[in-house]
Amino acid sequence: MRLILLGPPGAGKGTQATRLVEKHGIVQLSTGDMLRAAVAAGTPIGLQAKAVMESGGLVSDEIVIGIIRDRIQEPDAKKGFILDGFPRTVAQAEALEGLLSKEGLKLNAVIELKVDQTKLVDRIVKRAADAQAAGQPVRKDDDPEVFKTRLAAYNRDTAAVTPFYGARGQLTVIDGMLPIDAVAQAIDAVLAG
Ligand code: AMP
Repeated sequence: MRLILLGPPGAGKGTQATRLVEKHGIVQLSTGDMLRAAVAAGTPIGLQAKAVMESGGLVSDEIVIGIIRDRIQEPDAKKGFILDGFPRTVAQAEALEGLLSKEGLKLNAVIELKVDQTKLVDRIVKRAADAQAAGQPVRKDDDPEVFKTRLAAYNRDTAAVTPFYGARGQLTVIDGMLPIDAVAQAIDAVLAG
């Protein structure tokens, strides 16, 4: 199964992806997680990406497309994958389309988690507080001010990815403001259909 989860930061893509990974035995490919790992490891990509990530901007298409191209060819991705946080621009969506067709692969679904953006800052503040309470590291970009920049990047560059898939008849929109379980059920219904 190959699936894309779309939606602004804080929409719940990561939460749903984690559940789908367990349910379907597929891998979650989060470019954000991969970039954070590169930053932590101090790789050349990490060094390039660090400042732009901390400011809430987008890392270059070239870098993230390269990461995904390599990652989808690894053995554990053969069974299927969920893309979480990629594609974030139309150029990335076009590149993905090219990569998949070259491999003879098709997407099973593209799901947008539609949310009320005015509620997202509260969600992100909660995510940071929950992480801190659990003794986990708090993401530097889960800060209300940086979050506004991330949301602006979403509205400027990523919002256009949704119509890209809509035009291809691949898009399903789900209400991401529903409780987590209800969103999960809605996603399962799409995948079963
Ligand atoms: P995320 O964990 O998906 O919220 O991503 C965290 C940060 O990593 C984003 O704010 C961007 O700076 C960067 N990033 C992650 N995925 C991408 C992508 N597909 N294109 C560009 N930048 C990305």
